[in-house]
Amino acid sequence: MAKLTNYMEFIVRQELPAVMESRTDVCQCRTCQLDIMAFALNQLPPHYVASEGGHIHTMVNIASAQLKTQVLVAIVNALNAVAKHPRHRVKKGLTTISRR
Ligand SMILES: [Zn+2]
Repeated sequence: MAKLTNYMEFIVRQELPAVMESRTDVCQCRTCQLDIMAFALNQLPPHYVASEGGHIHTMVNIASAQLKTQVLVAIVNALNAVAKHPRHRVKKGLTTISRR
């Protein structure tokens, strides 16, 4: 079924794990991960595309290199913000997301 996808969110989801893994100073738990995603996406303009069964039309891929750079900047800003002000004080080691 066709649905509307925020392509920015798609790129953030794609790029976030690698950037987070490189930042050992940032808590890797799901709460912080979602905070980082929210913070990054709030800085970015939404970029909605119609997708069919998870397939995003190739037209969007033309712009993706530029969008990806924008997204990476937003993710780094978000990581810095969450590193300074984590949602919780104690690191939740047990809820840490599993690494590949
Ligand atoms: Zn956390």
